[in-house]
Amino acid sequence: MKEPGFSTRSLWAGEKDALAFGATQVPVVHSVSFGYDDMDEWFEVARGKKVGHIYGRNTNPTVQAFEEKIRILENAEASTSFSTGMAAISNTLATFLRPGDRVVSIKDTYGGTNKIFTEFLPKQQIDVTLCETGNHEDMETEIAKGCNVLYLETPTNPTVKITDIERMAKAGKEVGALVIIDNTFATPINQRPLALGADLVIHSATKFLGGHADALGGAVCGPEDLVEEIYHYREINGATLDPMAAYLLLRGMKTLKLRVDKQNENALAVAKYLQTVPIVDDVFYPGLETHPNHHIAKNQMKNYGGMLSFSVKGGIETVRHLLPKLTYANRAANLGAVETVVGPSRTTSHVESTPEERAALGIPEGLVRYSAGIEDIEDLIHDLEQAFQSLPQNIG
Ligand SMILES: *Cc1c(COP(=O)(O)O)cnc(C)c1O
Repeated sequence: MKEPGFSTRSLWAGEKDALAFGATQVPVVHSVSFGYDDMDEWFEVARGKKVGHIYGRNTNPTVQAFEEKIRILENAEASTSFSTGMAAISNTLATFLRPGDRVVSIKDTYGGTNKIFTEFLPKQQIDVTLCETGNHEDMETEIAKGCNVLYLETPTNPTVKITDIERMAKAGKEVGALVIIDNTFATPINQRPLALGADLVIHSATKFLGGHADALGGAVCGPEDLVEEIYHYREINGATLDPMAAYLLLRGMKTLKLRVDKQNENALAVAKYLQTVPIVDDVFYPGLETHPNHHIAKNQMKNYGGMLSFSVKGGIETVRHLLPKLTYANRAANLGAVETVVGPSRTTSHVESTPEERAALGIPEGLVRYSAGIEDIEDLIHDLEQAFQSLPQNIG
């Protein structure tokens, strides 16, 4: 049979084994343990010789359905899940890194990931080199010096910089590095890092996968042997995805394709509109031809995602006036939800950085991160128009 498309997979993938009593929807199995009357069967399941569940920190049917759905969407051999995206990232790194190892990454990773690189890994005698995001030559030079892990995120938060996954994965492979990509912003609808040469792909399921800003979760997908090691680390260390959260994420994922298609469209239209607004200095969106790595994005992404950012004249003062005027946007720290979400970087993605650190990352104090929702595009544009029009005359 022909390989099903993304919408079909989002709906059907991973659910069958979790259904019971003729239910058409995956149940939330809250039971912490799974009992066996037959001691031999219990022993077999416990040793992994027979399919089944033992204890909720290890596996759970609802959680397993979520893992299976993301595995199929990323076209991976295996996947495992976590309580949050950060747990997926920290557990994956902890599984493979040892004292004396070296990590090469980029300066623009998600704020929490950046803290792992700058605060926690150095305490364990793990050397981390963070390259200028988008400077591929610099990255290749650093990778060639040898590294155990090459960790990338593309597009990045909040200035949506783009890294060439195929080119970097090739450089990583040449030195035997494990290549890990955070695919949260793109989603499997827009980008497939495993097909581009990555070893592991990570998601904060809290964002686009769940899509409704009502559940935290994370996932890692990749080859069986690597995922098995990560799973083992997680089952012992305990950053387990809760079954109720798994259910909410599963339900959200059923509309992933519909939502992301609309968010792609809305983000591009908003980005194009913002380019026409005089008080807007800069618009950052990989789908714009003015984006410095637009051609790379065009090659490796199917579409450009729901995330963009823009900077305004007058810096934070303008932002302070502008954002409260928006009707159809939550002013909040999350992203990837069905509703539009806005926030200044200095209170969202890079709240832990100093103004100097943000400047070094090319994040203007007047930068607004914009996560396009699935509202009617006319309403989003009109909302922005009236917000810009209501700014005090002397601002900007
Ligand atoms: C939010 C986010 C994370 C962290 O995910 P949580 O679920 O909040 O722990 C990691 N990477 C990216 C790109 C994110 O946007």
